[in-house]
Amino acid sequence: MQQWNAFYDLINSPPKRIVIVTHQNPDADAIGSSLGWKIYLQKKGHTATVIIPNECPSNLRWMPDYEEVVTYDINAQTQALSKSLLQEADIICCLDFNTLYRIKGLGALVQEATGIKVLIDHHLEPDSFADFVFSDTSKAATAQYVLEIINRLGDGQLVDLPMAKCLYAGIMTDTGSFRHGNTTADVHLAVAELMKTGLNVNYVHRAIFDNNSIGRTRLLGYVLSEKLTVLPEYRTVYMVLSLDDLKCFGSEIGDTDGIVNYGLSLDNIVMSVLMIERRDEIKLSFRSVDEFSVRELANKYFSGGGHKNASGGRTTSSLNETVERLLSVLPEYQSELLNVEK
Ligand code: 5GP
Ligand code: MN
Repeated sequence: MQQWNAFYDLINSPPKRIVIVTHQNPDADAIGSSLGWKIYLQKKGHTATVIIPNECPSNLRWMPDYEEVVTYDINAQTQALSKSLLQEADIICCLDFNTLYRIKGLGALVQEATGIKVLIDHHLEPDSFADFVFSDTSKAATAQYVLEIINRLGDGQLVDLPMAKCLYAGIMTDTGSFRHGNTTADVHLAVAELMKTGLNVNYVHRAIFDNNSIGRTRLLGYVLSEKLTVLPEYRTVYMVLSLDDLKCFGSEIGDTDGIVNYGLSLDNIVMSVLMIERRDEIKLSFRSVDEFSVRELANKYFSGGGHKNASGGRTTSSLNETVERLLSVLPEYQSELLNVEK
């Protein structure tokens, strides 16, 4: 309560210079929650800027005010601008991530900055770097949490169409278009509230999902037909993508998003793993159904984490070694995997 009263006073004492940061490889919830929160803060009389660690996928750039987002790692100027914005900020809001490691180069800058730090997030076990911590894993998306915080601040009437587009994008994608187990009654109530602004949900869905390049579509076909291995004894599929594969299809950032979910569409499969070779690491994506926690596996063996049914991780080994590592840890989880209901 004390935290809430102090936070209420902070938001209600404009003008403050506010910077919002979100995680590396920003997804629709990262960008959508950040932009929705930014537009709200501006309406409250603050100056607000969103900084992202690296470029965001092209299918998210339609969001209102995206053109004002500062992308840290583009060049020396954007790095210097990010640094000065963070140094001068009265308040730094950290959205949709739970540890400074997830914002890469921005982590050290946020750590050093003297502004008041606010965390708004829905991942488990946040690091303790923030002064105000709004961390709730029962929220399906950070965007849902942002909407609830705005309402709790008594400002529900400020939610307008541009904010609704951003927040809906985050909720829609983090619930897998309202399919995942995190789709609660509160999620639908939040969406109903957003729709009252005149939001066209079909437009947002198309902007995000029906906007693929031919390269991305062919990459998906290639992965599913050539690079997917089924391990029935573990009810698991894994897919592997090398740098050469990505180059061959002219892949852009974001082109591999969502591919991992196709693994779970297979009959009797309860875990899907995608391994992608990047310049400096192998990035892993894990998806599971029901009670099987990929978060634990990702955390224990792949320096990662996330949610119970959707997690990420990384290795600095080769692609082959990473596959071997996965295969070597699967026996530990076999009985759990065989017991999952599907
Ligand atoms: P994705 O597979 O889409 O990259 O990530 C799935 C989920 O896991 C996302 O919610 C993301 O925030 C989280 N995640 C991905 N990579 C990591 C990681 O290295 N550490 C932690 N803690 N979470 C991650
Ligand atoms: Mn999220």
